[in-house]
Amino acid sequence: PFNEDVVPQAAEDPLFGLMAAYKADSFDRKVDLGIGAYRDNNAKPWVLPVVKKADNILRDDPDLNHEYLPIAGLPEFTKASQKLILGADSPAIAENRVISLQTISGTGAVHLGGLFLSKFYSKTNPNATIYFSNPTWANHNQIFTNVHLPIDTYPYFDAKTRGLNFDGMISALEGAPEKSIVLLHACAHNPTGVDPTQDQWKKIAEVMRKKSQFPFFDCAYQGFASGDLNKDAWAVRYFVEQGFELLIAQSYAKNFGLYGERAGCFHYVGPARNGSETAKRVASQLAILQRSEISNPPAYGARIASLCLNDVSLFAEWEANLRTMSGRIIDMRKALRGKLEELKTPGTWNHITEQIGMFSFTGLSEAQVAKLRSDAHIYMTKNGRVSMAGLNTNNVNYVAEAINKVVK
Ligand code: PMP
Repeated sequence: PFNEDVVPQAAEDPLFGLMAAYKADSFDRKVDLGIGAYRDNNAKPWVLPVVKKADNILRDDPDLNHEYLPIAGLPEFTKASQKLILGADSPAIAENRVISLQTISGTGAVHLGGLFLSKFYSKTNPNATIYFSNPTWANHNQIFTNVHLPIDTYPYFDAKTRGLNFDGMISALEGAPEKSIVLLHACAHNPTGVDPTQDQWKKIAEVMRKKSQFPFFDCAYQGFASGDLNKDAWAVRYFVEQGFELLIAQSYAKNFGLYGERAGCFHYVGPARNGSETAKRVASQLAILQRSEISNPPAYGARIASLCLNDVSLFAEWEANLRTMSGRIIDMRKALRGKLEELKTPGTWNHITEQIGMFSFTGLSEAQVAKLRSDAHIYMTKNGRVSMAGLNTNNVNYVAEAINKVVK
């Protein structure tokens, strides 16, 4: 039944192809700017010291076993996750209108939300389309298509300013049908590194309220972006404050460096009126969806995160670790911009320091990206996205000089 017409050969994931090519390159000064994971100043993976500590506590715990977690996950983990994203004093939590399920990292949370919307939101809004930014994390496309939600995009990146195309975004939302679903990156937009300002978020909320549109926040970089957990959660909290009913996908891959442990959380926030009653019904259906998808979420990563989230001193240490990661990335942004300006590389480079988080949309063309790879062994995605975590004090000047050469 699986002939070529039925199961055609799929195109290779461009990121995996890039990784394989980098690995095979034997040049000693090669640079990986494709990687979506934090690297330390020696280009090595970094286990957060607080994670190592929590790991040791868990390993020494004689009572630890490998029993199933509840369907909704580790309760102390999901509870702490609510507080982390919504704020400990969030009225939505106090009013019991937040429902949270532990998921297979952020991807699983986006998927669970997509499945829930496809099954229930579509009942009263049969052709409701989910809009996401152009561009967005490539997986959004696949995840929402898999659950049969119609998808569309709103303009986001302005190639000229390498900043936000705010007018384009607003007019697209105004032009989208009422009750459309809108996917928003809570902070550190992937792949552009461009976030709305607080005033711009307010305007986005105003338009979405006017059009009764439904927000779905994807939050993969809280604390990793600015180094401040509250600052990075501002947009989500503002929408909740404004009384929106909404969904949140929360990932602990980047901010805890728990990539492979798949620790994440999905939240439904009910409306300000009768929210707890709705939340109760929603919880019952989410449990059924979760059961059929994964039965029970994986325990170890959530246990590590939970220890850090629930212990005052580990939490403070985590915040310091977050500042180490975000601080190093901010320093690399400054160093790259500084060197490009010093070399008088044609064009403007202020966007490098204005963008935030793991990624930067450099504005380099596909041809320039190809030349960087063939001439200088520097690897990045074709769209000119650079992972700032791949830069360090040993290679940033080399990268700037290579960029300077291909741009001149
Ligand atoms: N959403 C966005 C925008 C992301 O950048 C990522 C990480 N690449 C994720 C979700 C989820 O990643 P993970 O499943 O590893 O948590």
